[in-house]
Amino acid sequence: MASRYPEGMTGSRLRRWLITALLAPALLPAQPPTNTPTRVELTPSAVIAGSPELIRVKAPDAAAVTGEWLTRKIAFFRHGDVWFALAGVDVEAPLGPSTLHISAQINGAAVDLSQSLDIHAAHYKTGTLSVSPQFVEPPPEALKEIEEESKIKARVFASSAREPLWLGDFHAPVPAQATDSFGTRRMFNGKLASVHKGADFHAAMGTPVHASNSGTVVLARPLFYEGNCVIIDHGMGLFTLSMHFSRIDVKEGQHVNTGDRLGLSGATGRVTGPHLHWAVRWEGAYLDPVKLLNLDLSLGAPKPQTSKHPGPAHRKGHPHN
Ligand SMILES: [Zn+2]
Repeated sequence: MASRYPEGMTGSRLRRWLITALLAPALLPAQPPTNTPTRVELTPSAVIAGSPELIRVKAPDAAAVTGEWLTRKIAFFRHGDVWFALAGVDVEAPLGPSTLHISAQINGAAVDLSQSLDIHAAHYKTGTLSVSPQFVEPPPEALKEIEEESKIKARVFASSAREPLWLGDFHAPVPAQATDSFGTRRMFNGKLASVHKGADFHAAMGTPVHASNSGTVVLARPLFYEGNCVIIDHGMGLFTLSMHFSRIDVKEGQHVNTGDRLGLSGATGRVTGPHLHWAVRWEGAYLDPVKLLNLDLSLGAPKPQTSKHPGPAHRKGHPHN
């Protein structure tokens, strides 16, 4: 048989070789200096500004895995043979190429598993809304309160549990679809421009709001803009924030499980009406809550990426904060 193929390969061996070559993860850089197979996978695989990302590093022999992406440190935890991190890209992240730095300690050596990733635009909307003037130009007596609260929030976000407190998938905090309001660039009363860093859920006054996953309540108190606010630390830099409650049912320091009631929805703080504002923050980056709800966090083998939840509701006439 004429040897058009790699040396000594028969038809079936060639097929196997071709399949192996074609299936080799395109993201994997040069082979690390070890016999241990290592592999990096991201879900979702297409990175969009505002997207949470489950990073999976298959490195069974690694003693530690560390990472950094757009100046944010990534902490990994081990589950079986795989190291995981729940990270993401801020809604206002620069678009274009970025480097996801990952390093694994294998047999006493640092193996570089870094890779280049393009951050794509998400095409968020623009909008305008009207709120009480005090929330656009706060009165002098409120400025001290606002400054004090920003220090409290900075303190809350400065520390996070060193292990994941979340377990499995995140669940919607109220039995309603989120509006597609995340990332919207908005004018308040024609003056202040800001990016909407959470998802708004339609919730009639007094709707029970539940913990989307397990964690520790690290803030549960009234704030000027957020109204009655509950912040949960889910560990390793990940927090969820629920705002505008009419009543808070949890205390700071309390552990909550998925589905526990945090309080009742309302219209406190900077709002145009009753609703739940729900936000996801990782290491200072604000991520799309609907995309987090759609992530399969069972930590099994990656599944084909399909949406568990219907897309956001496209409803008009309810501009919320
Ligand atoms: Zn909102």
